[in-house]
Amino acid sequence: MIALEEAQAKVNRDLAVLPPTEIPINEALGLVLAETVAADEAIPPFANTAMDGFAVRAVDTVGARKDSPVTLPVVATIAAGSVAPRPLERGEVMRIMTGAPLPEGADAIIMVELTRPAGFDVHLLAEVPAGNHVRPAGDDIEKGTEIFHPGTVLGPGHLGVLASIGRQTVKGYRKPRVGVMSTGDELVEGPEPLQPGQIRDSNRLTLLTMCAEAGLEPVDLGLIRDNERAIEQALRHGVANCDAVITTGGVSMGDFDFVKAVLTRVGDFSWMQVAIKPAKPLVFGLLDDVPVFGLPGNPVSSMVSFELFARSGLRRMMGRLDAERPRITAIADEPIKRHRDGKTHFTRVFVSENPAGQWRAKLSGGQGSHQLMAMASANGLAVLPNGDGVDAGQSVEVIHLDALAIR
Ligand code: AMP
Ligand code: MG
Repeated sequence: MIALEEAQAKVNRDLAVLPPTEIPINEALGLVLAETVAADEAIPPFANTAMDGFAVRAVDTVGARKDSPVTLPVVATIAAGSVAPRPLERGEVMRIMTGAPLPEGADAIIMVELTRPAGFDVHLLAEVPAGNHVRPAGDDIEKGTEIFHPGTVLGPGHLGVLASIGRQTVKGYRKPRVGVMSTGDELVEGPEPLQPGQIRDSNRLTLLTMCAEAGLEPVDLGLIRDNERAIEQALRHGVANCDAVITTGGVSMGDFDFVKAVLTRVGDFSWMQVAIKPAKPLVFGLLDDVPVFGLPGNPVSSMVSFELFARSGLRRMMGRLDAERPRITAIADEPIKRHRDGKTHFTRVFVSENPAGQWRAKLSGGQGSHQLMAMASANGLAVLPNGDGVDAGQSVEVIHLDALAIR
């Protein structure tokens, strides 16, 4: 058996960050920026009003009160998207709508609620200071400012800013296309009744959705039979169309574990027995320069193996600096025991934070590598080094699975 860290290092050596490409901003959600973005335009581009009301010279409103209004002529109306026909002179006002440019000569806005119509004139019911409700040019972003830096994960707010400064594309890392296939003659796809000895394929869906949750682009490579030719064909199709390929099943010590046999024949693959439980067997290597992960078939093992070997490396391929799951320290609410076997155990737990800000952990269900229910109700993997585990009240390190990958 080899240590977890050694296996992880072997995998990570072969995973390279994808080359950055020019990406349309409407396809950039969740992608990592690969350039420094400077604003070519100021936001707002011109001084404008934050309120519907009247553009005024502040000095003209001096002394205005509800019981003794100042009455001035309304000489124009400025809608958002239009400009004033001429500068505002002393003793005049212009009707103005939110977002419309401040006319030359005006220095303040009085909101409509503080006015009363009076035919072609308007009564101003309050005094306003210069700058009132005016949004100056560059108030949000000054032209030429560096606004975003490489490594930024683009969310809706970033994309809105990029749209507002007129960027059509950005240089970023696209999502790696990750192909997923399941292998096994016992597996059934779809709603058909099970024949004796058959089970339903669940790993393909869990792995495809784990890819999606990690911000990657999942590609379904199908359910492949335990047949060397079919497996080789599916692998070659996968590496020709994807940035990485994940298989599940067929990498253990069974007589029909053909994935391992095929990979060993076609490429430079390492088969590892990793000192962990679950997910001891792992096959990894490059086929036509594309990384291929051969994950074990047991449903929990395949998920834990993805977490420990594939997830962070695949996220680094798309430039994510926050590739790793966060780890927390929790207090065991109940004994989380194990036997000495020289391995590190990754026990499925449910963690919650109590009002004092302390994390508590309890088992999320049966711990067999076939018992997927415990994975469904887990939000953490407790890391139990070789030994007896922990008693209630002792602290335990937990890989927190709840952090949202798509931000
Ligand atoms: P294997 O690694 O192919 O020997 O499979 C180990 C165990 O996982 C066996 O009990 C398989 O039936 C089961 N298994 C393999 N692939 C899948 C799958 N895609 N979905 C559900 N169970 C699977
Ligand atoms: Mg199998």
